[in-house]
Amino acid sequence: MHEYSLAHSLLEGLLEHLAAHPAEGRIVKVHVRQGELLTLSQEALREAWRILSEGTPVAGSELVIEKVPVKVRCPNCAYQGKVQYLAEEGWHYTIPVLSCPKCEGRVEVVEGKDLAITALSVEDQEPTPTENPPS
Ligand SMILES: [Zn+2]
Repeated sequence: MHEYSLAHSLLEGLLEHLAAHPAEGRIVKVHVRQGELLTLSQEALREAWRILSEGTPVAGSELVIEKVPVKVRCPNCAYQGKVQYLAEEGWHYTIPVLSCPKCEGRVEVVEGKDLAITALSVEDQEPTPTENPPS
């Protein structure tokens, strides 16, 4: 499943980051940026994260997914920024137009295709011990 491999690479990157910069507390939320051009089921991604993160230092953390719009760069006129959208009445979504809004030239997508971690939320208080509950 597409979402599993995405969750897997997010997790790998995060664990690598945490090995070098340990978090000061339990990570409760992992904020993720989802490019508009990347089609995925957020539900499936969260579920994959829950399963894959089990047994890792980020087990039990929740993915917070934020969608970000497409940004492009035009090699022809040096335009950089947002694109125009196709939308018609009755459509449930809009379609980003991947050509330059100024000169209609071909553009390079600089943002909007990927999935990346943008921030981590760490719990303030001491983590509650679960292994040896007080009797
Ligand atoms: Zn242009």
